[in-house]
Amino acid sequence: MHELSLAIPIGEYVLQESQGRNVEEIVLKVGRLSGIVPEALDLALQVVLQASCAEKACITYEWQDGEGQCRFCHTRFSMKDVLDVCPDCGQMGAKILAGTQIRLIGLRFAPRLDTSPEETHTTQMTINNS
Ligand SMILES: [Zn+2]
Repeated sequence: MHELSLAIPIGEYVLQESQGRNVEEIVLKVGRLSGIVPEALDLALQVVLQASCAEKACITYEWQDGEGQCRFCHTRFSMKDVLDVCPDCGQMGAKILAGTQIRLIGLRFAPRLDTSPEETHTTQMTINNS
């Protein structure tokens, strides 16, 4: 179960950043070539964050196109799938240059008191999934 091995470091990082505050939202930026199945990652994060201050957090995905370079004609092009063909020569099997990463880019915390505003927090955690 690949998603579980990704959920563990994400969960640890979220809990470390939260410092005990309730987490309402976790924003992940995911490369389209990472092979991540969001439903499976949601489920894995639920397991990892169970009974923690982030157990009710919703998970938001921002998708990012990948980038590849054709092995035959060396054209660089944006990829939505690892099987995308080169737009110039039609060959498959491009070398992948970007788009396999998963980044945790933001966390939203519940207000500490009813009267205080929500806190949002920008984070920079990257997992390479190639
Ligand atoms: Zn090509």
